[in-house]
Amino acid sequence: MQTLTSLPDLRAARAALPEPVGFVPTMGFLHEGHISLARRARAECASVVVSIFVNPTQFGPKEDLAAYPRDLPRDLALLESAGVDLVWTPTPEVMYPPGFQTWVAAEAITQPLEGGMRPGHFRGVTTVVAKLFNVVQPQKAYFGQKDAQQAAVIRRMTEDLNFPIEIVVCPTMREPDGLAMSSRNTYLNPEERRAATVLNRALSAAETVFAAGERDAGRLRQVMSETLAAEPLARPQYVSCADPETLAELNGPIERALLSMAVFMGKTRLIDNRVIENVRKI
Ligand code: AMP
Repeated sequence: MQTLTSLPDLRAARAALPEPVGFVPTMGFLHEGHISLARRARAECASVVVSIFVNPTQFGPKEDLAAYPRDLPRDLALLESAGVDLVWTPTPEVMYPPGFQTWVAAEAITQPLEGGMRPGHFRGVTTVVAKLFNVVQPQKAYFGQKDAQQAAVIRRMTEDLNFPIEIVVCPTMREPDGLAMSSRNTYLNPEERRAATVLNRALSAAETVFAAGERDAGRLRQVMSETLAAEPLARPQYVSCADPETLAELNGPIERALLSMAVFMGKTRLIDNRVIENVRKI
């Protein structure tokens, strides 16, 4: 496994890789969620490239950029054992050279949910992913359903900008108690960690009533909110039942929806989601 930092080194190494190339962009402090993407890429592609870059432009001024957890030696060992060929660890100076002023921004799809709570976040995401795509030139790129809006935004951008890249969205990996894996889970104290299972429980509660025939979007939001309200440590920021592609909030009867939420546990902001669908039995 090669680990490279400079742009010229990466370009030269990329040119020599057998195709198709599968690419997994990450911010590091890797867990089984990230590794599941690398494994899927390994199974589907001749070469696997992973980037590790804590992208400053997707963090708001009051967010956790400086505190974001990092452990490069551990990350590299995990990627090596997942069979990754090349790890790119660019510095902020490589990605954002002096004078940088060109941005990629998707519009309506970035306005609700995470985009509504984190102004500028998706402009940072689409800009850095477009730059990573331009340099790595993968045939396939792998993203997690854990960040459902991010996956939808990247799909939109890829189509809008004619990147010849197939976007593959992989299932959310969870801890045994249902908490979605996240690098930010490391911020939780033991009490918050126990309480954090409420996000998955709220999604399950809504899915259960949907399976029992409830179709009203407002009622599904209500079921999620009531479950969250029963956990005193949880401070919900939004609870949503939205169109899985456009992310527009839904009202009235639904057949398919993205249920999602952002919840503060102490100072830690957690997100989770699930797609529900009425599959007709034949
Ligand atoms: P991050 O390092 O948080 O930017 O995440 C890098 C990629 O891993 C993104 O595509 C995430 O959606 C994905 N990812 C993060 N957590 C999980 C998880 N629990 N299961 C599956 N994919 C994940």
